[in-house]
Amino acid sequence: MKRGQPALRLKRGRDAARNHPWIFKGDVADVSDVEPGAAVTVVDSAGRFVGRGFYNPRPALCCRVVTWADEPLDSALLERRLRSAVALRARGASDGPPALGRLVWSEADGLPGLVVDRYGPVLIVQCLTLGMARVRAAIADALARLLDDAPVFAADEDAAARLEGFEVVRGWIRGAGPETVEVDEDGVRFAVTLGTGHKTGLYLDQRENRVRIAGLAAGRDVLDAFCYTAGFAGHALRGGARRAVCIESSPEAITAARRNLALNGLAARAEIQAVNVFDELRRLERAGARFGVIVLDPPPFARSRSAIPAASRGYKEINLRALRILEPGGHLLTFSCSHHVSDSLFEDICREAAADAHLRPRVVAHLTQSPDHPVLLNVPETHYLKGLHLQLP
Ligand code: SAH
Repeated sequence: MKRGQPALRLKRGRDAARNHPWIFKGDVADVSDVEPGAAVTVVDSAGRFVGRGFYNPRPALCCRVVTWADEPLDSALLERRLRSAVALRARGASDGPPALGRLVWSEADGLPGLVVDRYGPVLIVQCLTLGMARVRAAIADALARLLDDAPVFAADEDAAARLEGFEVVRGWIRGAGPETVEVDEDGVRFAVTLGTGHKTGLYLDQRENRVRIAGLAAGRDVLDAFCYTAGFAGHALRGGARRAVCIESSPEAITAARRNLALNGLAARAEIQAVNVFDELRRLERAGARFGVIVLDPPPFARSRSAIPAASRGYKEINLRALRILEPGGHLLTFSCSHHVSDSLFEDICREAAADAHLRPRVVAHLTQSPDHPVLLNVPETHYLKGLHLQLP
C-alpha cells in the first residue's frame, strides 16, 4: 500500500477470503481521515492490500470495492470499466450496443453505484452512491467518447441520494436532447419522458419476458397486473390478444400506459384501470372473469429480510387469485423482484397458491432478468428478478 493514501482497515475475522465488494461499518476496524465519497484503499487486519473503493461514512454500507487490483481508482479506471460494459452489450456488433437497454449495471459491471441506460439517442445516468455522484462528470465525458457523443441525462433517485447524502441531479449533464424519447422494444414503441417514472423510465430488466408474452397472447384475453406503462399489455396486444386489461395504482403510470398503447394503435383493445391489484383480483373473481394470459409483476414486497413473511403472504395471495381466474390451458407469468425472496422460496409460495386453488399447473419456464443485467456469482444480490411461466392443464 502506498504511504499516505487514505486507508480503511477491516476487522480481524471480517477480512478472510473477502470476495464480496460490500463493506459495512461493522466490518471496519478504523479509517484514516478521508473526505466522504473519496477513494480509499481497503486493507485487511494485518495491513495487506484488499482493494480500492469509494468511502462514505453516512450509510451502513460504507464502501463498495471497485477494484481488487493495486491500481489507482481514477477516471482512467472508470473509463476502462465503462468500455468493457459497453463491449459486453455490443457483443462484437459494429454498430455498438442495442439502441435500448442497460449499458452499465453497478456491481455487475465493476462500477458499484452506477447505472447507465441507453434510450435510443440518449444515455441516462443514475448515481446511487456519493462516490459515483462525485465522478459523474468524468463518467459522462467517458460515455460521450465511447458512444458517439450521445447526450447524457442524469436521473438520480431521491432515496439513494438521501441515504448517501448527495444532491439529486435530474437533467442534461452533457449535451442536450429531446424531453421525451420514443424507443422501440421488439416492435412495440414506448414514449419515455426523461426524469419521470420509475427506474430510468422503463423496467428494462423485463424485456425478454415482455417479448415472451407476444407469442402466448393471440386470440386470448390478457390481464396485465401491476402494468406500469403497459409494457406486457403492449406486447400481448401486438401479438394478437383479443383484449388486454391493465391494472395499476399509480396515476402517472396510467397516463403513460394510455399514451403508449395509443402510440402503437392498440388502445381500442385495451382497458386501463386505476385500482389496487389485491382488491381488483378479488372483484374479478367474484364477477366470474376469466383470462387466457395473466401477468403478475408486482413491486418488491420484501425490501428487507424482516419483511419476508409479510411479502410471502402477499405473493401467495395474488398468485392464488390469479390462478383462480385463469382459463384451462391459460398462462400465468408471475414475478418477484425481491432479492430477499429466493428462487426456491418463490417457487414454494406459488406451489402453495396452486395447492390452495386445487390446481396443478405445469412449469413452462423459469424466468429471470434480461442478460444486460448480468449476475455475478460472488454478488448474489445481482440476481434479483425471478419468475415462473406456468400453464394450466
Ligand atoms: N410490468 C411493468 C413493471 C411493473 S412495476 C413493466 O413491464 O413495465 C410494478 C408496478 O406496480 C408499479 O408501476 C407500481 O406503481 C404498481 N403497484 C404497486 N403496488 C400496487 C398495487 N397494490 N396495485 C396496483 N398497482 C401497484
